[in-house]
Amino acid sequence: MFNLFAAEVARLWGRPAFRVWGKARPEKKWHEVSVHATSTRDLDSPWPRPFFAGTAITWAGNVIALGEDFAVGVLKEQIAAPASRDHPVEVFGGRLRSVERRLAAGGSSFPSWSEVLAHECGHTWQARRYGWLYLPGGAIFTLFREGEGWVHHFENQASAEGLFGGIVTGSVRRDLMKRAMDD
Ligand SMILES: [Zn+2]
Repeated sequence: MFNLFAAEVARLWGRPAFRVWGKARPEKKWHEVSVHATSTRDLDSPWPRPFFAGTAITWAGNVIALGEDFAVGVLKEQIAAPASRDHPVEVFGGRLRSVERRLAAGGSSFPSWSEVLAHECGHTWQARRYGWLYLPGGAIFTLFREGEGWVHHFENQASAEGLFGGIVTGSVRRDLMKRAMDD
């Protein structure tokens, strides 16, 4: 497993898919976060779940990694309805997976790509607050996903507090933009 992480980290040296504005509700300032896309994180990737296929992981206060499919999904949504720091994307009902809470807040049953990115922006805040303590804590607790009880705290907090304030102008990798426009 460690080798998988090492390979992942090595990929992060490459050019990001795009950069986004992210913060958590308690924060005043927006932060620029690099979003890295790798094909090992695509839904049809042979890499083992839950660490790679179809997931996103926040590695640090300013680094998120996700699949290329995910990145293209975000771009398409942002072309159709761009978020901004004045009108950020938030997770409906503060939960990605509670259909009841999402519908009550006027959302759809399933979250959009941009909502999942808002959730990851919540994790970047945790990473900024907890520093090195975040990675073991956050990575482990992410496996429990949202729910009730103390083990779910990291996930619930990320969904409740994370805000995605749009894509930083001029930061999109050209091949991904082309895919988002062509599909
Ligand atoms: Zn999470």
